[in-house]
Amino acid sequence: MDPVIVVHGGAWAIPDQISEASVKGVKTAASEGFAVLKKRGSALNAVELAVRAMEDNPVFDAGHGAVLDADGEVELDAIIMDGKTLAAGAVSSIRNISNPVTFARSVMEKTDHVMLTDRGANLFADGLGIPKLATETLVTENERKEWEHYQKYAQGVKELFNAQWDHDTVGAVAVDCDGNVACATSTGGIRNKMVGRVGDSPIIGSGGYADNHSGAVSCTGHGESIMKVTLARLILFHMEQGKAAGQAAEVSLQYMGERVHGGGGAIVVSNKGDWAAKFTTERMAWASVKEDIMSYGLNPKEIFSEHIQD
Ligand code: ASP
Repeated sequence: MDPVIVVHGGAWAIPDQISEASVKGVKTAASEGFAVLKKRGSALNAVELAVRAMEDNPVFDAGHGAVLDADGEVELDAIIMDGKTLAAGAVSSIRNISNPVTFARSVMEKTDHVMLTDRGANLFADGLGIPKLATETLVTENERKEWEHYQKYAQGVKELFNAQWDHDTVGAVAVDCDGNVACATSTGGIRNKMVGRVGDSPIIGSGGYADNHSGAVSCTGHGESIMKVTLARLILFHMEQGKAAGQAAEVSLQYMGERVHGGGGAIVVSNKGDWAAKFTTERMAWASVKEDIMSYGLNPKEIFSEHIQD
């Protein structure tokens, strides 16, 4: 079958000064992930690579570019999931590493567990020899300034709705030539979050889920709301009931808005290659590639398309 990749660079109100860089970042990540799929690589490898590309790009709130918590430190969350076996790996409150998505994959492949957190996760990372980077290496100068300006978590959430938010969570979903699906999500969370706060991103069924029987989803937005409705799993439930990817994402995001007043976004791919990128926030940077056509957008109902070069 024709492989498909969809990536997001986070929901919320991405300010104009970083909108171009956000769109460029998601397009690059989507092409890198698609190159894997085109060579008959696995959906799992494609989503990991795409998310790594965005973790390495400081325009996004993941890996390099992560936001600071209430203590002025970085705590990262990530998940990766293989729809073929339902194997999943997640990490939360991990400190000072570049690529939490790859670390989450190590949890999936090298331990008997699905999630590691805090001290244990950090010890496991040390045991694997993953280099620890100084906080200032991961954090942008602008983030440090913003953090000093806004010291309250509640203020952090308000900023998200008021177009002052700098950068966002990242995610990818893919279906490969063999019909296997996978998802990955990675984030620094929300600025000024309490130390130890874990959002939706690493929670299986909330920030992401992948099952070959239906498809794969990666979410972004207000983590506390996403967790309450287990958004990723809810979207796949609607697909299992016969809805198309776009419709399933729309009804689920609408339900989250009505039920818990939360905004967010999701990227979805079905096991047949039907895909969607939907959001209820002001903006969400996203890009997809299917049959060598790259589609991308940032504002509601916006879809640009171009042929990708080999
Ligand atoms: N969902 C993430 C969190 O709450 C934030 C985001 O998607 O921007 O940690």
